[in-house]
Amino acid sequence: MSVEAVETIGTVKVCNTVTGEVEEVDRVVKSDEEWRCQLTPEQFSVARQEGTEPAFTGKYWDCKEDGLYECVCCGNHLFSSKTKFESGTGWPSFKKPVSDLNIRTDLDTRFSMNRTEVLCRRCDAHLGHVFDDGPPPTYRRYCMNSASLRFVRQEDLPGRHE
Ligand SMILES: [Zn+2]
Repeated sequence: MSVEAVETIGTVKVCNTVTGEVEEVDRVVKSDEEWRCQLTPEQFSVARQEGTEPAFTGKYWDCKEDGLYECVCCGNHLFSSKTKFESGTGWPSFKKPVSDLNIRTDLDTRFSMNRTEVLCRRCDAHLGHVFDDGPPPTYRRYCMNSASLRFVRQEDLPGRHE
Protein backbone atom coordinates (compact mmCIF):
# COMPACT_ATOMS: atom_id res chain seq x y z
CA MET A 1 0.00 0.00 0.00
CA SER A 2 1.37 3.38 -0.92
CA VAL A 3 1.79 6.21 1.55
CA GLU A 4 -0.82 8.21 -0.34
CA ALA A 5 -3.39 5.48 0.16
CA VAL A 6 -2.74 5.35 3.89
CA GLU A 7 -3.20 9.08 4.17
CA THR A 8 -6.40 9.17 2.19
CA ILE A 9 -8.94 10.89 4.36
CA GLY A 10 -11.94 9.87 2.36
CA THR A 11 -14.88 11.49 0.74
CA VAL A 12 -18.39 12.36 1.79
CA LYS A 13 -21.58 12.82 -0.20
CA VAL A 14 -23.17 16.20 0.32
CA CYS A 15 -25.95 18.09 -1.42
CA ASN A 16 -24.90 21.10 -3.48
CA THR A 17 -27.94 23.31 -3.07
CA VAL A 18 -26.92 25.61 -5.91
CA THR A 19 -26.94 22.81 -8.48
CA GLY A 20 -29.38 20.59 -6.58
CA GLU A 21 -27.00 17.66 -7.09
CA VAL A 22 -25.56 15.26 -4.54
CA GLU A 23 -21.81 15.39 -4.97
CA GLU A 24 -18.99 13.25 -3.64
CA VAL A 25 -16.39 15.62 -2.24
CA ASP A 26 -13.16 15.24 -0.30
CA ARG A 27 -13.43 15.60 3.42
CA VAL A 28 -11.61 18.69 4.68
CA VAL A 29 -9.06 17.87 7.36
CA LYS A 30 -6.61 20.52 8.56
CA SER A 31 -4.35 21.03 11.55
CA ASP A 32 -5.23 23.53 14.23
CA GLU A 33 -2.43 25.73 12.91
CA GLU A 34 -3.97 25.77 9.45
CA TRP A 35 -7.42 26.55 10.85
CA ARG A 36 -5.99 29.35 12.98
CA CYS A 37 -4.53 30.98 9.87
CA GLN A 38 -7.81 30.76 8.01
CA LEU A 39 -10.25 31.76 10.76
CA THR A 40 -10.67 34.64 13.17
CA PRO A 41 -9.98 33.80 16.84
CA GLU A 42 -13.72 33.70 17.53
CA GLN A 43 -14.45 31.49 14.53
CA PHE A 44 -11.65 29.14 15.60
CA SER A 45 -12.86 28.95 19.18
CA VAL A 46 -16.46 28.18 18.18
CA ALA A 47 -16.01 26.03 15.08
CA ARG A 48 -12.87 24.09 16.01
CA GLN A 49 -13.04 24.06 19.82
CA GLU A 50 -16.79 23.58 20.37
CA GLY A 51 -17.26 27.07 21.70
CA THR A 52 -20.48 29.05 21.87
CA GLU A 53 -20.75 32.71 21.01
CA PRO A 54 -22.67 34.87 23.51
CA ALA A 55 -26.37 35.24 22.61
CA PHE A 56 -27.34 38.31 20.56
CA THR A 57 -23.71 39.02 19.63
CA GLY A 58 -23.28 37.06 16.40
CA LYS A 59 -23.56 38.39 12.87
CA TYR A 60 -26.62 36.42 11.84
CA TRP A 61 -29.11 35.95 14.70
CA ASP A 62 -31.14 38.90 13.37
CA CYS A 63 -30.30 38.52 9.67
CA LYS A 64 -33.46 38.39 7.56
CA GLU A 65 -31.96 38.47 4.08
CA ASP A 66 -32.55 35.74 1.50
CA GLY A 67 -29.61 33.48 0.92
CA LEU A 68 -27.56 30.51 1.96
CA TYR A 69 -25.55 29.84 5.10
CA GLU A 70 -22.34 27.95 4.39
CA CYS A 71 -19.76 26.41 6.70
CA VAL A 72 -17.21 29.13 7.56
CA CYS A 73 -14.46 26.51 7.50
CA CYS A 74 -15.05 24.60 4.27
CA GLY A 75 -17.93 26.25 2.35
CA ASN A 76 -20.25 23.25 2.67
CA HIS A 77 -23.86 24.37 2.20
CA LEU A 78 -25.69 24.16 5.52
CA PHE A 79 -28.88 26.20 5.93
CA SER A 80 -31.26 28.21 3.76
CA SER A 81 -32.78 31.49 4.89
CA LYS A 82 -36.12 29.92 3.92
CA THR A 83 -35.99 27.72 7.02
CA LYS A 84 -34.69 30.40 9.40
CA PHE A 85 -37.07 31.53 12.11
CA GLU A 86 -37.24 33.89 15.07
CA SER A 87 -36.41 31.76 18.08
CA GLY A 88 -35.82 34.61 20.51
CA THR A 89 -32.63 32.92 21.69
CA GLY A 90 -30.12 35.32 20.15
CA TRP A 91 -28.64 32.63 17.91
CA PRO A 92 -29.51 31.99 14.27
CA SER A 93 -32.14 29.24 14.33
CA PHE A 94 -33.34 26.99 11.55
CA LYS A 95 -36.06 24.36 11.10
CA LYS A 96 -33.79 22.03 9.14
CA PRO A 97 -30.49 21.87 7.23
CA VAL A 98 -30.42 22.08 3.43
CA SER A 99 -29.91 18.30 3.51
CA ASP A 100 -29.31 15.76 6.25
CA LEU A 101 -26.33 14.68 4.15
CA ASN A 102 -24.57 17.97 4.84
CA ILE A 103 -24.44 17.74 8.62
CA ARG A 104 -23.88 15.08 11.21
CA THR A 105 -24.91 14.95 14.83
CA ASP A 106 -23.20 13.68 17.94
CA LEU A 107 -24.17 13.34 21.59
CA ASP A 108 -22.72 16.17 23.69
CA THR A 109 -22.74 15.43 27.42
CA ARG A 110 -20.68 18.43 28.52
CA PHE A 111 -21.96 20.71 31.28
CA SER A 112 -24.05 17.84 32.74
CA MET A 113 -26.51 18.04 29.85
CA ASN A 114 -27.49 15.64 27.11
CA ARG A 115 -27.53 17.73 23.98
CA THR A 116 -27.26 16.85 20.32
CA GLU A 117 -24.30 18.58 18.76
CA VAL A 118 -24.50 19.53 15.08
CA LEU A 119 -21.33 19.35 13.01
CA CYS A 120 -20.38 19.99 9.40
CA ARG A 121 -20.27 16.66 7.59
CA ARG A 122 -17.37 17.75 5.42
CA CYS A 123 -14.94 19.24 7.93
CA ASP A 124 -16.38 18.38 11.37
CA ALA A 125 -16.76 22.04 12.34
CA HIS A 126 -18.87 22.53 15.45
CA LEU A 127 -21.98 24.42 14.35
CA GLY A 128 -24.26 24.35 17.37
CA HIS A 129 -26.97 22.06 18.77
CA VAL A 130 -30.38 20.79 17.68
CA PHE A 131 -33.38 20.72 20.02
CA ASP A 132 -36.89 19.27 19.74
CA ASP A 133 -38.79 22.44 20.64
CA GLY A 134 -38.90 24.09 17.21
CA PRO A 135 -41.91 25.11 15.13
CA PRO A 136 -43.91 22.73 12.92
CA PRO A 137 -43.56 20.86 10.66
CA THR A 138 -40.14 19.62 11.80
CA TYR A 139 -40.37 20.65 15.48
CA ARG A 140 -36.61 20.94 15.30
CA ARG A 141 -34.65 23.97 16.36
CA TYR A 142 -31.18 24.02 14.89
CA CYS A 143 -29.52 26.53 17.20
CA MET A 144 -26.40 27.64 15.38
CA ASN A 145 -23.46 29.93 16.04
CA SER A 146 -23.00 32.81 13.61
CA ALA A 147 -19.25 32.30 14.01
CA SER A 148 -19.47 28.89 12.31
CA LEU A 149 -21.44 30.24 9.35
CA ARG A 150 -20.83 32.40 6.32
CA PHE A 151 -23.86 33.99 4.69
CA VAL A 152 -24.12 34.29 0.90
CA ARG A 153 -26.90 36.51 -0.44
CA GLN A 154 -29.32 34.93 -2.87
CA GLU A 155 -28.21 37.25 -5.68
CA ASP A 156 -24.58 36.29 -5.11
CA LEU A 157 -25.20 32.56 -5.52
CA PRO A 158 -24.04 31.27 -8.90
CA GLY A 159 -26.86 30.22 -11.21
CA ARG A 160 -29.57 31.17 -8.76
CA HIS A 161 -30.78 34.49 -10.13
CA GLU A 162 -34.49 34.76 -9.63
ZN1 LIG B 1 -17.33 22.52 7.06
